[in-house]
Amino acid sequence: NSFMELNLSRPLLRACEALGYTKPTPIQAACIPLAMAGRDICGSAITGSGKTAAFTLPTLERLLFRPKRQLAIRVLILTPTRELAVQVHSMIEKLAQFTDIRCCLIVGGLSTKMQEAALRSMPDIVVATPGRMIDHLRNSLSVALEDLAVLILDEADRLLELGFSAEIHELIRLCPKRRQTMLFSATMTEEVNELVKLSLAKPLRLSA
Ligand code: AMP
Repeated sequence: NSFMELNLSRPLLRACEALGYTKPTPIQAACIPLAMAGRDICGSAITGSGKTAAFTLPTLERLLFRPKRQLAIRVLILTPTRELAVQVHSMIEKLAQFTDIRCCLIVGGLSTKMQEAALRSMPDIVVATPGRMIDHLRNSLSVALEDLAVLILDEADRLLELGFSAEIHELIRLCPKRRQTMLFSATMTEEVNELVKLSLAKPLRLSA
């Protein structure tokens, strides 16, 4: 029961070590191999379970083997709040610190101009709140999701509670059909299950 046994690449193992992670949490042990195999994942997991690294590590692993110079957004992570987006972004920067993978943060309350520039510089991963992401997709010719490989919906129950349903649906429509999707939620409400049906293909259900 170690990160080594999960077949993660050296730069990711180094990052786990630097962060003081000695062994995977249960959700990580369950999620990482299945996500690395390309499966869609529906995880019921709360904050504190290690869910962020559970979806980030297999996603980074996939990006490490991307063709060089693929200049497009490959991964979109949607979160219900700015605060969570900031946390997820910071976690990704730490886990990706020994790679050349780049991640940018797109949330309300920060300068749209600076975010435009960040998006134009073609980050691999975008962590965003839904409203601001849609603003950018509507207003910028240089931002598109057509090469997206992985979509992650974090805290799906809160995304829906906060009224982001229409935005999420619009964003899903802009993503390629052929993609990997991971959804995490503290609670599995009927609305969350509807979203699972709509956005995930043959999902594996995991709980922390
Ligand atoms: P999360 O549930 O993703 O919000 O993570 C909660 C906290 O657990 C964060 O501070 C992580 O840095 C930490 N964490 C995640 N995975 C591990 C691990 N395998 N070992 C120790 N701490 C971890």
